[in-house]
Amino acid sequence: MVRRALALALLLLPTAACRREHPCMFTMRRYDALPILRPVPKDATLELRVLYLEDGRVPGLGARGRTALYARVERLAKRWLGYRIKLREVGARDLRAEFARPDIAFRRPAEAACIAAVTFDPTTDGGGSVAAALVSREFDARGPQVFARLFPETLGMSPAAAKADALRRFLSLHKALSGIRTKEGPLLRDPDDSAMYSFMHWAHYIKSITEADFVLTNAAFLVPDDDMPVYVLARGGLTTGFVDNNPQAPFGGAGAVTLLPFLSGETLLDPSAQPTSEAENLDAAATMWIHEVGHLLGRYGEMYGESGCVHVASEGLKYFAWHRAIAKAGNRCSRPPAILPKF
Ligand SMILES: [Zn+2]
Repeated sequence: MVRRALALALLLLPTAACRREHPCMFTMRRYDALPILRPVPKDATLELRVLYLEDGRVPGLGARGRTALYARVERLAKRWLGYRIKLREVGARDLRAEFARPDIAFRRPAEAACIAAVTFDPTTDGGGSVAAALVSREFDARGPQVFARLFPETLGMSPAAAKADALRRFLSLHKALSGIRTKEGPLLRDPDDSAMYSFMHWAHYIKSITEADFVLTNAAFLVPDDDMPVYVLARGGLTTGFVDNNPQAPFGGAGAVTLLPFLSGETLLDPSAQPTSEAENLDAAATMWIHEVGHLLGRYGEMYGESGCVHVASEGLKYFAWHRAIAKAGNRCSRPPAILPKF
């Protein structure tokens, strides 16, 4: 996934009375100053550095499992993207300890203010209004057909009914995800847990990380923010991977890839998934990682509206069905992805 945060945040500002600059405006200025990216050439083997961060409360992936996953990603990158890559693990650490570091990017006052301004709790009145505005924006931007692929029950409804139905589905899915139980209680118990599961916290972390090109984690991102795209809304706010700009990184960007849907997915997210083997968990995780490698190296934009193509994100929480369709089709897309000048 790639997305340029803030569009809606700015849109929702009260215009007449508000003289204060939006707390995230500095990120827009940084974005505008970023250099234009070009696709990374495919003529040499590329080393991608991986940092593994683990939340000890949910199932993780041991060293052997990670080695097996890296081998799968390397194979698929060659087969589906034409990139020869080598993943090199540069560290494996505790996610909670990493995110408690006093110097971590999202603790800087400007970043913290921006995050506070754009994340929201959809169970409150204010948060519910933000969610409704987001659903409406995405319906209008994507059109009823793409929207109905992600919210199938809205097919044939009037725009108003489709938006209301999708909003109900988002809220109910989000409630279910937020209530996921871990061996130490609910997934989101306190602000520290929320940071570990917040896309915006991760986005600021990834924008400035220097030791890795990808961070692999067994967590996932489900704290809502006011710029979620339609496929994230359709998953109740869950983001499972993304790539963002990082001017200090060798490839001009860095990414995060999550394992929660794959290591715990059949029980937590999609009871119908029934992985055929333990290896299929890794296969499905590798497929998702390839989606992100395509963003990072090919500068590929998000694609919509077809199955069997790795550049289209999982539609809903059925990650295994998504993976199986791509594997069966051997990654077949109706057209090449758009090339982005920036993430
Ligand atoms: Zn994507």
